[in-house]
Amino acid sequence: MAERYFPDNLPTRIQHYIDGKCVDSVGGETFDVLAPVSNANYATAAAGQKADVDLAVASAAKAFNEGPWPRMKPRERARILNRIADAVESQEARLAELETFDSGLPITQAHGQALRAAENFRFFADLIVAQFDDAMKVPGAQINYVNRKPIGVAGLITPWNTPFMLESWKLAPAIASGCTVVLKPAEFTPLSASLWAGIFEEAGLPQGVFNLVNGLGEEAGDALVKHPDVPLISFTGETTTGQTIFRNAATGLKGLSMELGGKSPCVVFADADLDAAIDSALFGVFSLNGERCTAGSRILVERSSYDEFCEKFAARAKNIVVGDPHDPKTEVGALVHPEHYNKVMSYVEIGKTEGRLLAGGGRPAGLETGNYVAPTVFVDVAPDARIFQEEIFGPVVAITPFKNDDEALALANGVKYGLAAYIWTQNLTRAHNFAQNVEAGMVWLNSHNVRDLRTPFGGVKASGLGHEGGFRSIDFYTDQQAVHITLGTVQTPKFGAAATY
Ligand code: NAD
Repeated sequence: MAERYFPDNLPTRIQHYIDGKCVDSVGGETFDVLAPVSNANYATAAAGQKADVDLAVASAAKAFNEGPWPRMKPRERARILNRIADAVESQEARLAELETFDSGLPITQAHGQALRAAENFRFFADLIVAQFDDAMKVPGAQINYVNRKPIGVAGLITPWNTPFMLESWKLAPAIASGCTVVLKPAEFTPLSASLWAGIFEEAGLPQGVFNLVNGLGEEAGDALVKHPDVPLISFTGETTTGQTIFRNAATGLKGLSMELGGKSPCVVFADADLDAAIDSALFGVFSLNGERCTAGSRILVERSSYDEFCEKFAARAKNIVVGDPHDPKTEVGALVHPEHYNKVMSYVEIGKTEGRLLAGGGRPAGLETGNYVAPTVFVDVAPDARIFQEEIFGPVVAITPFKNDDEALALANGVKYGLAAYIWTQNLTRAHNFAQNVEAGMVWLNSHNVRDLRTPFGGVKASGLGHEGGFRSIDFYTDQQAVHITLGTVQTPKFGAAATY
């Protein structure tokens, strides 16, 4: 086996960033960080506790209440956001290298994620400059207008799949809106997040606007959710974690934005361009190692094309290049962590009792260590099978036949999730009818997952709560205060003005 890739100048100690300084936990707590290719412990990270979260929130609250950021003109904030985007772009190669080392994502896909992170900042820079709010007039009587105000300290809690990009997804709209933030990145992948502090300092973001606390969800994440001075939580992660956060945020009546799990259908009708559908279905479930919230992890295929689809799909899956994530030829890398690897492997074993295995089914030959799973294809999977119903979040797909549109829709909607749906058909009427009836927050017709940043992002059912994306993200991080002004004479009913006898 080739020598393992090891980035130069790899940090071995990952700290919090609070009030403009890199610091350890107050109590000195740490946790180990593993590299997915070797599962070697390459660094220790500060494990934030309530005391650390208190300091980070105090810093963010001070920057919000006393600092310049929420009071700056949109153009001034936009200039800094653009400089952040420039800094992300200029470090793109390093970012991708660290992301791949820490998460196991293939390097070619990590490059795309870093560029997308920069684009998130540019997009929100443009948006806040173009932002306008409603003013309404009742002629001669009243004018009403919306006074938009950043809400305060936003708690941002993110998962380990595409960590840097998903952090940017929350950081960009939160700070663009004038909020200050405390970010709690995922504990499996703290490495790339440690670059934010330098990026923000270089761009001139005022001290205290950005704070970062590393740590476990049950400790640092929990303390952030329960902190009384944090009115907003934007969370991306598992549905069960979202439910816990929902409960914990109830006491403080906090604003919540939740992007949760998925088990999205890719529906292929017999009239589809089958080769295009196969390309897209393969990419949809095996890109990002299958660790993708919008993965098309259930493929539903019309009976008359089913055998041909399964045969071609499985042949391509067997041919996917699995290996060292730093190798540009690699298409599927190593899963993020041994805990997650064990979970995915347990589903592979369950799948063997629930479907017919056509590709993969375990560790790929020649990769004896590291969290590698061969792209795995199960066909003839019944709709009540666990591998049809439950999110696996790895390179494992369940394929099921259907006989007509009604059955396809029932199968597509027959799970608790509702994040994305992909539909392949040449029939325009069918495509639109299906799109409108499928229970999914986002639908792609004859397309793989490409997203315009202006569109709403979010899921329905167990896949999420609220929609971000474009102006909707700004709505989440701001209050829209209605201001009413009387024009002319005030027409108030005169209480207590009747003559008294
Ligand atoms: P996770 O829920 O285990 O963890 C996500 C984050 O929440 C981590 O930072 C974790 O430390 C924190 N956390 C855990 N328990 C907490 C608690 N009690 N209080 C506060 N914070 C807590 O999710 P994961 O395994 O990191 O990520 C994978 C999941 O994320 C999958 O289900 C995937 O579908 C989902 N996801 C969804 C989207 C989307 O946009 N819908 C995008 C990416 C990932």
